[in-house]
Amino acid sequence: MDFEILQTGIILCSLHSSNINPGPSSSGQAGLPSTNPSASYWLQPSDVSQKFGDYRSTPDLPQSADTVIVGSGITGAFAAWFLLEQTGGAKVVVRSGVGAGAGKEENSNGGGILMLEARRQPCSGATGRNGGHCQPFVYSASTPSIAEFELATYQFLKAFVEEHGIAGAVDWRTLKTVHAYLTEEVWEGAKALVEKLPEGLRGQVDLVDETRKGKEGGETLRDLRVPGAKGAVVQKHAASLWPWKLVTWVLERLLERFPVGKGTGEEGFNLQTNTPVLGLEKLGDGKWTVITNRGNIKANRVLLAMNGYTSNLLPEMKDLIVPVRSQVASLRPPKDAASGKVAELDYSYAFVSEEQFPRDEYLMQRPLPGGELIYGGARSHAENKAVGVWQDDEVERGVATYLRQNLAPYPLDLDKTGSTPTDTPKEGNETTELEATHQWTGIMGFSRDSNPWVGRVPESLGGGENLYMCAGYTGHGMPQAALAARMIAEEITGKPFADDGLKLPREMALTEERVRWVRENTKTLLKEQHQAPEWSATMPELLTATERRA
Ligand SMILES: Cc1cc2nc3c(=O)[nH]c(=O)nc-3n(C[C@H](O)[C@H](O)[C@H](O)COP(=O)(O)OP(=O)(O)OC[C@H]3O[C@@H](n4cnc5c(N)ncnc54)[C@H](O)[C@@H]3O)c2cc1C
Repeated sequence: MDFEILQTGIILCSLHSSNINPGPSSSGQAGLPSTNPSASYWLQPSDVSQKFGDYRSTPDLPQSADTVIVGSGITGAFAAWFLLEQTGGAKVVVRSGVGAGAGKEENSNGGGILMLEARRQPCSGATGRNGGHCQPFVYSASTPSIAEFELATYQFLKAFVEEHGIAGAVDWRTLKTVHAYLTEEVWEGAKALVEKLPEGLRGQVDLVDETRKGKEGGETLRDLRVPGAKGAVVQKHAASLWPWKLVTWVLERLLERFPVGKGTGEEGFNLQTNTPVLGLEKLGDGKWTVITNRGNIKANRVLLAMNGYTSNLLPEMKDLIVPVRSQVASLRPPKDAASGKVAELDYSYAFVSEEQFPRDEYLMQRPLPGGELIYGGARSHAENKAVGVWQDDEVERGVATYLRQNLAPYPLDLDKTGSTPTDTPKEGNETTELEATHQWTGIMGFSRDSNPWVGRVPESLGGGENLYMCAGYTGHGMPQAALAARMIAEEITGKPFADDGLKLPREMALTEERVRWVRENTKTLLKEQHQAPEWSATMPELLTATERRA
């Protein structure tokens, strides 16, 4: 059954008597997260996953809450972190410059944060299923202000794991990242973008091509292990990490520091997994009823941190955030026949080309001795490039085969002279097929103008006073979500949490003007992006999808 808007001000998903996942919808609206998602490397059994399986802070669902956060990925977790750490716990003080009550300072009724997660495990959406990269886009961000915001988010996360002494616990590894451009056309496009960078950002990236010969001039293509590439952009600031461990550390810490109040369960931080939100109802007093399969909750405010699933509760967003499925494999690295050693990669990678199939793969390596290669992308091998797909309970065979067969030996040979990655190995080629320990999918939220949507949800999108959202990272949320969550927490409380002057870039703000502009100009915008080679691997199918849905 499809979802529908039942009446103005009430967004309600049609309830499914036998199965909460409605299956494919032709409307473009995302369904609920699949009940039996594919097995992600990051979600493998551990003490923490044991503890969090079916986790509920209180056996019963509270009937009211100050703030309900829907979704327990990196966005929801950091929003809860900022709201609770900055307000000291139970009550969010509203000193709002926006919405009703603007200018007033008051304690809102109720208390605490109630986080609702559809799945049995917290953080088992995109954050628990991604490629493990945190790399700010410097030259390929849509604007310099977004690049600055991503760099700030990266620096925030780096400082966060250092300050809390959890770099080891979450496998944070600071490294440079290499974007290898495999054809002349895409390399020329990348260089043009770098040349356009403002001075402050230009120093963040290094351009390397075959003219770079010796060590004294910096790394060569061969040093970078991409000798067959036409050129590479090396970004100085990047990291790899185990994102699920970071988010569950945040959640554990909040549960310890802000336990739910005795009796009512309305104070502190209350996490309820296995509780899909089925609908939202706007009440006359500015509050919201949050409808779940376990009963209703009256909330002073609601924050939607659902990323690719946003249109499930906000159908009016379905042309603005499109669910797109991405696939990843964890591959055992090949061993050198003579020494039995495996290559240790000093960088993380992205591979870009336009030839035959657009390439958009990303690669990082887990620490040795295992050294598994977390290799994702290759959506051009998926049916309809997996645009509009919100189910992550299956892997696509064509993508899986490509990922297993495409990587070796490049860039994994020990002498760094690997073959060109455009030489796609033939099916069943035993010398290059790597063994997969895990193969999985996850759902990204592609934004119609490629920038996230952060702010109060306007009435025209099914929102109103006290309904907020933060989503639409277009497959690139790790260097955006944590500070986007801080921005939304600041908007909710109406005060800055630090004196660093950080502001939400205008391009990320959810305003009716932006919605209008984006809807009117999307075709042009996406066509421009389509022509820009560095976008070509990810955006053309979105053009088709949004043209169809507009
Ligand atoms: C395969 C893949 C690879 C990626 N690789 C990278 C990468 O390497 N680097 C990078 O920067 N980004 C990457 N991304 C994107 C990145 O993972 C996301 O941008 C980011 O994790 C979004 O975080 P989030 O918290 O907003 O959303 P999510 O992590 O998706 O969390 C949303 C949560 O909301 C829950 N939810 C949804 N609907 C409901 C409902 N109705 N009721 C209750 N709960 C609900 C979901 O179950 C989910 O847990 C990748 C994404 C995918 C899918």
